[in-house]
Amino acid sequence: MSDVVIVGGGPAGMMAGLLFARAGVAVTVLEKHADFFRDFRGDTVHPSTMEILDQLGLLRRFLGRPHDKLDTARIRVAGAEYTIGDLSHLKTPAPFIAMMPQWDFLDFLRDEAASFPGFHLTMGAPVEAFIEEGGRITGVRLTDDRELRAGKLVIAADGRSSLVRRLGLLDVETLGAPMDVFWFRLPKAHNRGDVLRASVQTGRMVILIDRQTYWQAGFLIAKGTGEIVRARGVEWIRDEVRKAFSDISFPSDSLTKIEDLHLLEVTLDRLIRWHRPGLLAIGDAAHAMSPIGGVGINLAIQDAVAAANILAAPLARGEGVDALLGKVQQRRLFPTRIIQAGQRAAQNAIIGRILGGAPITRAAWPVRMLDRFPLMRRIPGRLIGLGVRRERVRSPLAETQSLDRSSPLPD
Ligand SMILES: Cc1cc2nc3c(=O)[nH]c(=O)nc-3n(C[C@H](O)[C@H](O)[C@H](O)COP(=O)(O)OP(=O)(O)OC[C@H]3O[C@@H](n4cnc5c(N)ncnc54)[C@H](O)[C@@H]3O)c2cc1C
Repeated sequence: MSDVVIVGGGPAGMMAGLLFARAGVAVTVLEKHADFFRDFRGDTVHPSTMEILDQLGLLRRFLGRPHDKLDTARIRVAGAEYTIGDLSHLKTPAPFIAMMPQWDFLDFLRDEAASFPGFHLTMGAPVEAFIEEGGRITGVRLTDDRELRAGKLVIAADGRSSLVRRLGLLDVETLGAPMDVFWFRLPKAHNRGDVLRASVQTGRMVILIDRQTYWQAGFLIAKGTGEIVRARGVEWIRDEVRKAFSDISFPSDSLTKIEDLHLLEVTLDRLIRWHRPGLLAIGDAAHAMSPIGGVGINLAIQDAVAAANILAAPLARGEGVDALLGKVQQRRLFPTRIIQAGQRAAQNAIIGRILGGAPITRAAWPVRMLDRFPLMRRIPGRLIGLGVRRERVRSPLAETQSLDRSSPLPD
């Protein structure tokens, strides 16, 4: 029997699995999909996450995998380009955002975690219920009726539609979001461009992520208007994207089928209490993040580090941790609140207005100021890159597992 069962193999679940196994705790991660290959995921690995990888001796190996580097944030407003963020000055091992498709990042975490004997990952394992005995959560039941007991703890890392929410095990406080996103691929005519581009015009906001062989596009729409926008047809969206990025030539076979448009409903909320005896929620399961700032993955990773810092050593000694679960929430609530407050402010002041049709004739003054004064760009760069209250790995490395994990990559 595993000491810890983790529901969900996203960034939070995989990092928690790696850290608990590294400390000598037997851990099983259950992921409902058969692989990590999904489009609906962010691609950003921020400097704060790379600090964690550095502390684990994994940074060089991580950077050995294909990725792009982004150290400035630019936005196009009403046809003019503005630079609004600079990460290059950050005093951190990797002062840039590594743009890596999330499935590659999760593959990386899986490969690294697999070298710890206590780590088990089961793919294609959808959990449908928690087992409760004597007022404690003691395990999970899969959709095929198999049951898996957890010796000490179940972690819900199953994202914003988490079972703990759907089954009403933990209450949610909704903060609201004024937008949803159509997420789709566009073929590339040329191979290279800026790795991340954003365009804002009256009534329209579009982002493009360069995924080497194609563009991943995010087309923001006002909340709840997905069907209305779909009814306009793919041609309308294609034309809007063309207008947004008139300097990019998209091949004629770009976005031809309505089924290629995937609607992602944006939510911003958090659990009032992240735990109950035997159960802890982390990552989006505890606090669903808006895509603004692209910080959700990194917050999820920081939660995993905090959970391991507080719980891994007692678990490795065979102790119960129910009394410590509140400490994880206490530690992570402050950064979650600050970042969600920032996302909410940006949503209401900027995105809601743009999608509501407020005329955009030029950039707002903060954007113009950031563009004009390079030193000021370091402030958003620091907030996005390093976040608030970043964690340091303090969970132990079990003695039996102290391989030399910091060996450099061969040239
Ligand atoms: C449109 C959009 C774009 C975004 N872009 C970015 C970005 O660029 N950068 C960024 O940092 N953040 C971004 N975010 C936010 C980010 O995706 C999340 O904050 C982050 O993925 C949270 O990680 P997680 O591990 O907590 O949850 P998730 O990534 O949601 O992972 C949960 C995992 O649990 C699995 N699962 C779910 N239910 C079950 C079950 N019952 N049984 C077993 N497994 C289950 C899922 O398959 C999934 O693998 C974006 C969000 C949206 C909506």
